[in-house]
Order: sequence, then C-alpha cells, then structure tokens
Amino acid sequence: MAHTLKFAGVDKVYQTSSGPIHALQNIDLTIEPGEFIAIVGPSGCGKSTLLSLASGLELPDSGQVALAGRPIAKPVTDVGIVFQSDVLLDWRRVLDNVVIQAEMRGLDREEYAVKARQLLANVGLAGFERKFPYELSGGMRQRVSICRALVHNPPLLLMDEPFGALDALTREQMVVDLHDIWLKSRKSVLFVTHDIQEAIILADRVIVMTPRPGRIAEILDVGLPHPRTPEIMQTKRFIELAQYVRHVFEEHGVLKNYQQTEDAL
Ligand code: ADP
Ligand code: MG
Repeated sequence: MAHTLKFAGVDKVYQTSSGPIHALQNIDLTIEPGEFIAIVGPSGCGKSTLLSLASGLELPDSGQVALAGRPIAKPVTDVGIVFQSDVLLDWRRVLDNVVIQAEMRGLDREEYAVKARQLLANVGLAGFERKFPYELSGGMRQRVSICRALVHNPPLLLMDEPFGALDALTREQMVVDLHDIWLKSRKSVLFVTHDIQEAIILADRVIVMTPRPGRIAEILDVGLPHPRTPEIMQTKRFIELAQYVRHVFEEHGVLKNYQQTEDAL
C-alpha cells in the first residue's frame, strides 16, 4: 500500500473561454510502488494533465486520485518532477541547481549537498558541480534536472517527455541512464513520451491513450526481463509489442495504415 498511486474513475474538464475541454475520461490506473509506467498517446490527449493530477497541481472533476490510500487534495511534496525543458536557474551553479530542491523544503543544505554530489556522480557529472547551466550540453542539463528531482528521495518520479528536446543519440543514452537510475533506486515512475520504443524499453507497463478526451485504450505488460539494454529492441517480443501499440493507435485513428491508404487509391 505504501505509496501506491491510484486513479479511480477520474475525469478532468478544463473550463476555457471557448467552452469546456474534456481532457481525461474515466481513468482507472494503479501504479504499484517501484513500478515504471510509461504513457504514450497523441498530443493533447491529457498526458500532462495526468501528471498534474498525480502531483496534486490539478484536482479531478470526478473520481479520485489517491496516494498511499489517501485522496490527493493539494500539491504533493513527496514527488520529483522532470519536464521537457530543464528549467534550470541560469545564475546558479550545477550543485546549487540540485540543492535548491532541499532549500525550498527547508532541509539542511549541507546534508543535501552531499547527496547531490553523489547523484551528479552517478549520472557522469562529477567535476561539473561548479559549472553554470550555459556551460553544459542539453543532455547534461537534463541530467541535472533528474538529480534535482531525486535529491529529496521522493518515492514517486513524474517525467513529462523529459527527453523530447534532445537529439536522437543523446536521447538513447539518457534512456540507458534513466533505466540504470531506476534499477538502483526502484522509485515509482510515471513517464510520458511520444516514443513507442522508449516506452517499451523502460517500462513495466505501457499505457496507450486515445485522442481527446484521453481514455486508456490499452495497458500492456511489457514482460521483458531487467536490466534491459538497447539490444532488446531486436527481440521478437519487443518488435511485437511495438507493432501492437501502433495497431492500437491505428484503431483510434492516431496513425494511418499506409497499406490501406494505398489500396484505397
Ligand atoms: P498532452 O500532454 O497529452 O499533450 P495536455 O494534458 O497538456 O495533453 O492537455 C489535454 C487537453 O487539455 C488539451 O486540449 C489542452 O489544450 C487542454 N488543457 C491542458 N491544460 C489546460 C489548462 N490549464 N486550461 C485549459 N485547457 C487545458
Ligand atoms: Mg504534454
């Protein structure tokens, strides 16, 4: 039960000047402690909204989101969040950008500086503690963001297309590194991505969403053993899973089946 995150019958509607937007519909999902969940779906299907509900930044219009058995009614502090843009503070050095997480919580700066150094070393940034963000590559900056999300040791990590702004090679390395971090820390992770392969490589379960209003079209058990390396992408199981996700998207009109299109011409 500890830190189980549970969505039960969750709907989210945004009221806007041009009318209501039904972002999420009837979401039922339980994330067990230590589980890595990837969410894939088209733009605007409510993926970011799902993370906002998990962090208590938004509240559902109906249904309930509960953490460790208690309904979430205000922003959750025991959570780490990583966005697509790294939102580092330009005027703070790398170490201070990580430690700010502790400062904001009124925790002991020196104690958390030690933890921050360990985390930075774990992601290959030993020696970069005193650099400023502008001195780092995009991948390094996003590693700093991940350290900042982890330094207060939250049981739950929310990641919203964290590698979306990175080039393909850096992205591949980040996937390997994140998998490694997760294996060592076994946090619960909710990881939003557009990338089907990234989702399957990393996740225990892949949640496939429909276009808006976002519903859960399918929950796939990946069932591939850990630790995983990129070679796993060549296995039969991996290829079948990726094809299946594409198939679900085709059924919901998210992806067009080119073969059918040609036949129709
Ligand atoms: P995704 O992350 O899957 O692209 P979002 O969760 O950001 O989708 O958005 C789902 C839908 O809700 C979109 O149509 C978006 O425009 C709308 N939306 C998101 N946040 C707000 C908000 N704060 N106010 C009004 N509409 C919003
Ligand atoms: Mg989004």
